[in-house]
Amino acid sequence: MKKIFKRSLERNDKRELLLFGYSENQEKPSKELEITPAPTPHMRWNPSRQEWVTYSATRKVRTSFPPEEYCPLCPGAELNFPTEIPFKNFEIAIFPNRWASFNTNNRQLSIEGIETQPSNGECEVVVYSSNHKDTIAQMSLDRVELLFNAWSDRYINLMKRDDIKYVMPFENRGIECGVTLHHPHGQIYAYPIIPPVIQKEIEAFSKENFIEKLMKNWKAI
Ligand SMILES: [Zn+2]
Repeated sequence: MKKIFKRSLERNDKRELLLFGYSENQEKPSKELEITPAPTPHMRWNPSRQEWVTYSATRKVRTSFPPEEYCPLCPGAELNFPTEIPFKNFEIAIFPNRWASFNTNNRQLSIEGIETQPSNGECEVVVYSSNHKDTIAQMSLDRVELLFNAWSDRYINLMKRDDIKYVMPFENRGIECGVTLHHPHGQIYAYPIIPPVIQKEIEAFSKENFIEKLMKNWKAI
């Protein structure tokens, strides 16, 4: 496996921007975005679904469909305005979502008649490339491998935290799914609970290794 370099930059809001690459990034950071207020999402117990549901009011004001020349995920040092990534170039960048659905804040909100708890955890943005027009399908296998390694790094490190029980890297594609920025990127949601669907899958898996069974059948075809 090719050597992977990981660089951590402490942002002006004291949170961490990570760069993953096959070459070492030693660039001096350019101007950063202004500090945005830390998100304070909360969870409400839904008695009809018997599950916790996250509410993150600040997502209403997230950056939404900016003109291409103002893309906040493009390399900022190349432009005449700051972006999330204050460098001329990068391979993969990961940083906290400024409009997170999970963010450890321990703020206990009180709503009469509704059971609530803080929506602790972490939400991160994973930018796959410095090139605004890239897509995973067109990227080299090397770059895709780098992305898998960056996901693994985040999975291992987020799962070490006591406030996180489940880590899910994912990508929504297309405006139909709510994507508001076209620069190639995905997200990582690190939950403070195991989501009910995953809990069901864990229980099913503890009864029977259905993946092994499927693989055996698949080989037989
Ligand atoms: Zn862009």
